[in-house]
Amino acid sequence: MRDFRIRLSAIRGLLFESQATLTAYKHRPRTTDRTTNYEKGVEDLTGFWKEAAKITQALWYVDQQTCVFCGGEQGVICQTCTTNYLRPDLGRCKRCGKLILAEKLHCLDCEVGKGPKYLDQVTAWGHYSGGLKDFIQKVKFEAHPRNIMEIARPFSDWAISQLPVVDGILAVPMHSSRLAERGFNQAEVLTSALHWELGLPILRGVERIESTSSQVLLSRQERLHNLKGAFAVLQPEYFKGKSVWLVDDVTTTGATLEAVAEVLHGSGVLAIYGLCLAAGLEKKLVPLRN
Ligand SMILES: [Zn+2]
Ligand SMILES: [Zn+2]
Repeated sequence: MRDFRIRLSAIRGLLFESQATLTAYKHRPRTTDRTTNYEKGVEDLTGFWKEAAKITQALWYVDQQTCVFCGGEQGVICQTCTTNYLRPDLGRCKRCGKLILAEKLHCLDCEVGKGPKYLDQVTAWGHYSGGLKDFIQKVKFEAHPRNIMEIARPFSDWAISQLPVVDGILAVPMHSSRLAERGFNQAEVLTSALHWELGLPILRGVERIESTSSQVLLSRQERLHNLKGAFAVLQPEYFKGKSVWLVDDVTTTGATLEAVAEVLHGSGVLAIYGLCLAAGLEKKLVPLRN
């Protein structure tokens, strides 16, 4: 996007230059000598065509894309980062989204019924580690929400290849005090990116009415308990009968997605699919790479 803007301003500059060259041609000093007039005219026009050629080049020139995760010169996401963080070799647990061995359908937790109850499926683009983790942390903690636009296309392509088309997409809401602190909700920015790329409508009307302290050190059960009553649906009838993608940046235990899904389910939402940039990995079965 940034490259596109730079290119546009370059083209605008070139247009001004070529316009100036044409004006110079029009007002070129003429002498009584026709040969000199002709040669001078050719010289000015050559200048104009050179500028025109530069504009055409700028229009068709394809920028060298650098990898958003490592800065390497190989496309939006290079092969190494794709292998390391997006892990196309692994499957996603059909219930909680955790990265698992490709031949399995569910992770060990979900196999024994410890998975989400109100979500039909959760999927995650990649593994929360290395370059993908750095990317997400930079967005959130160094206030770079616009970086999300750089991954909008590959992330949206992934989402639509994994989940059914729904009535709308909803961001996991952030408490107003946290929003005031950070200035933006990264889940909402992600939702905008999905809306922009896929055209799915954005749904609003769920609020986080209770702020919870950091959940990092808590177990899934403790988190679920902590999140009881944290979310509220403003107009349940608005959601009745709908199917939604519920979007967040990261899922670790799935407790936050589950807490939002519970209130949506209570409002009559028929199908809820969780979608995240990154998820944890089933360490018991898949060895850690980073
Ligand atoms: Zn890379
Ligand atoms: Zn699972």
